[in-house]
Amino acid sequence: MVESETTTGNKATGDSGASEAGRDFIRDIVQADLDAGRATAVVTRFPPEPNGFLHLGHAKSICLNFGVARDFAGQCHLRFDDTNPIKEEQLFIDAIQRDVRWLGFDWGDHLYYASDYFEQLYSWAEHLIRVGKAYVDDTPPEAMRSQRGTLTEPGQNSPDRYRSVDENLDLFRRMRAGEFANGARVLRAKIDMASGNMNLRDPVLYRILHTPHPRTGDTWSIYPTYDFAHGQSDAIEHITHSVCTLEFEDHRPLYDWLIDNLPVPSRPRQYEFARLNVSYTVLSKRHLTRLVTEHHVTGWDDPRMPTLAGLRRRGVPAAALREFIRRVGVARAYSTVDVAMLDSAIRDTLNPLAPRRMAVLRPLKLIIENYPEGQTETLQARNHPDDPDAGSRPLTFGRELYVEQDDFMEQPPKKFYRLSPGKEVRLRYGYFVTCREVVKDSAGTVVALRCTYDPASKGGNAPDGRKVQATLHWVAAADAGPADIRLYSHLFSRPDPGADGDVLADLNPHSLEVLTGCLVEPTLLHAALGEAVQFERTGYFALDPDTLPERPVFNRTVGLRDTWARLQAGASGQATA
Ligand code: ATP
Ligand code: MG
Repeated sequence: MVESETTTGNKATGDSGASEAGRDFIRDIVQADLDAGRATAVVTRFPPEPNGFLHLGHAKSICLNFGVARDFAGQCHLRFDDTNPIKEEQLFIDAIQRDVRWLGFDWGDHLYYASDYFEQLYSWAEHLIRVGKAYVDDTPPEAMRSQRGTLTEPGQNSPDRYRSVDENLDLFRRMRAGEFANGARVLRAKIDMASGNMNLRDPVLYRILHTPHPRTGDTWSIYPTYDFAHGQSDAIEHITHSVCTLEFEDHRPLYDWLIDNLPVPSRPRQYEFARLNVSYTVLSKRHLTRLVTEHHVTGWDDPRMPTLAGLRRRGVPAAALREFIRRVGVARAYSTVDVAMLDSAIRDTLNPLAPRRMAVLRPLKLIIENYPEGQTETLQARNHPDDPDAGSRPLTFGRELYVEQDDFMEQPPKKFYRLSPGKEVRLRYGYFVTCREVVKDSAGTVVALRCTYDPASKGGNAPDGRKVQATLHWVAAADAGPADIRLYSHLFSRPDPGADGDVLADLNPHSLEVLTGCLVEPTLLHAALGEAVQFERTGYFALDPDTLPERPVFNRTVGLRDTWARLQAGASGQATA
């Protein structure tokens, strides 16, 4: 598939890419650290777990980590925190790399995996045992949970907390050798079971998992926990600013404890920011995974998904996502961003770029009775109203055309300016036409409109200066081609999916509408994957990879205006007026 945009290098191109430098508190901290000599070069990292596709929330983290590195002439690593082989797959590793690149960022030579550090992490675990700060615990998981205490009650020490160093070392080595079953024992840090911070109540550092790993195969039957691997991996890579979301604020004391107690080569500093939440959307991998595995969507790249792959397939350019993230900003306060903000970033990015085309979603035949039978003519249609350099394209005009069913009403309400019996309108780039007669089938459905045109109005203006109040898009029967068009709406029907319980109960049953039998101008029959176009009056569209040679499939990326917000506000009126 051809991607609509690939920018490489930490210098992302485009309006937003280069100047996301608008200050935020993270950049202020980095600047202060540099000024005070606490850091000499800036090294950040984006650390995904390869257990799903990247989503909008990750885009925020990517833009921040790569953006800070770029703004301070540092470097940003892509590191897979691949410590849980049960959920991780090569498929996700590949998808994540593709999506980070597509978003416009480049890690250069700095691609790393926590699994590359397994041997080092293991020897640091032995180090903790030797200095009496870690122990092997045989307490069954259930009992361990209850011994952990609660936020208001301290935990209890495990009887195994007092094991000798030698016994701990022996058991830990045998855990590594694969002698014990999954869950039989764990390695825990010996910190403080009465700590007010639950993360310091002797957290688990290693667990037994007889599961092959996508990268290390069956070398290991024990794996470090995320908490044990994460900070040490940062230290190994000499990360200066370990930027993460606020859920990890409570883990920072543990990360600091580990760094204090291990002979690590550097001391990263962690800073937290608020994760991105978007209305009508879920950004939790747990929920997104369920949507995919339980087939509520067609896959991770379903255009309704908030994944980068889904957004790309819907036709959203990477520059629009970077612009959205720039507008969202970086802060520590939790908030939910209105999904309409994403839509406007997409529109604002596509508007200057997308060539204008004509496509009729729900065709209604229009016959021009006074246009000579068998005759056609060629009109010139501008590709972009604001950009003369975008040129023009020929359009065929003839006796039989198609317009939108929505653009006709037999008994129009007062402010309906489009076609109705006796009403005159302009056909874009063409002529004035007047509706003379409505043709119906035996069921009473309108199947065609008989019209007349004013041959003197070529180019869209009548010589006598009379006005019309609507300009309609159309295609010509002579050369329009068929297409399927997929219209998307929010995947969830409420702004806060799951607020009352199960997220899946809030799925919007009307999130996808497939239109077949649409008619598009001939240019669109040769559209390229990844190329964004505007269908005049109906929105921005992009070809879907499901396209067949004889039948293009278009996704609506976003409508022209925020009809959703207007509908929500209870506004009346015609969505396509
Ligand atoms: P999820 O909670 O959806 O499972 P995760 O945090 O487990 O996501 P990771 O692969 O660990 O997913 O995420 C990689 C990085 O992206 C982490 O540093 C994480 O903090 C950040 N990140 C994840 N979700 C968001 C979000 N909604 N907003 C901002 N950053 C996010
Ligand atoms: Mg995570």
